[in-house]
Amino acid sequence: MVCSFGAGPAEARPWIDDLAQALPGAVVVGDEGDAGLDADYAVVWRAPQHFFDRHRRLKAIFAAGAGVDALLSLALPSGVPVVRLEDAGMGEQMADYVVHALLRYFRRFDTYAALQAGRTWQPLPSERKADWPVGVLGLGALGQTVAQAVRALGFPVAGWTRSPRELAGVETFSGPSGFAPFLARTRVLVDVLPLTADTRDLIDAKVFAGLRSPAYFINVARGAHVVESDLLEALASGHLAGAALDVCRDEPARPHHPFWRHPRIALTPHVAAMTLRRESVAQIAFKIGALERSEPIDGVISHERGY
Ligand code: NDP
Repeated sequence: MVCSFGAGPAEARPWIDDLAQALPGAVVVGDEGDAGLDADYAVVWRAPQHFFDRHRRLKAIFAAGAGVDALLSLALPSGVPVVRLEDAGMGEQMADYVVHALLRYFRRFDTYAALQAGRTWQPLPSERKADWPVGVLGLGALGQTVAQAVRALGFPVAGWTRSPRELAGVETFSGPSGFAPFLARTRVLVDVLPLTADTRDLIDAKVFAGLRSPAYFINVARGAHVVESDLLEALASGHLAGAALDVCRDEPARPHHPFWRHPRIALTPHVAAMTLRRESVAQIAFKIGALERSEPIDGVISHERGY
């Protein structure tokens, strides 16, 4: 069996070594070293189009990430299953990020930092968690972990999904008809959706206006979900009190992007949940083994849904 890792050469070596160890008997090669070899499996991280043009007999393509929007924008060999990472250590990281952003806002740490800068000793009124319902867009592998972590802190939590779902302790809404009621009960909106034709530009002025005010927005998913000018207007109107953004529409954000210097936006460079190589290789190797035994695997993308 031949497994090719498609990515920039600088990132490839540790992946190739770990995949070779996890797939005894397989020939594991990198983007540069697979000339003449027709790979059975591809493991890809930002692989260029020419990688897929070379490998025409793939049995499966494994993305080394949870989101596949960039991968699906390439011309992939037709009929070949595309498999994404399912959690693989990312859910916990994402929950840490969201919990930090939520508590920083809820406990007013930014305001206290400003007060400290002015040497002002001024206690602010406390808030009740019951008055800060959190709404999580997407209850997939990552969104579920986020929702449960927020729930464990004592905040009321709801989730919104494409198809009806049940999750212990979480109020659930689904589909277009469930969107407005989900927003109406939500004060802190957390985005953990995939980027698809249905979710691009989903979060606009109407969505911000539909939230309970003062609202807060945490985006750990994709920047293209958000109409950025509408987000800035919602902040200017005061309906939105602030935002913690791990992503923006064009990454990296340009030096003049208004998010950098906005006093009520906390911006991080797409780091909410990083791919963990060892966990990812173990998951991918397990699934390659299952495919070799003709067993079904989870995490196969539906091209029709886009995730
Ligand atoms: P999953 O595919 O497991 O879950 C996606 C969830 O979104 C599901 O609950 C799904 O609903 C819901 N959903 C999809 N489309 C719609 C829609 N049109 N309307 C309502 N709900 C919808 O994805 P993951 O949880 O693994 O990952 C989520 C995203 O997180 C990734 O796609 C990626 O964009 C982002 N990400 C960001 C990272 C970062 O560092 N910032 C790192 C990793 C991922 P249903 O349950 O009905 O299928």
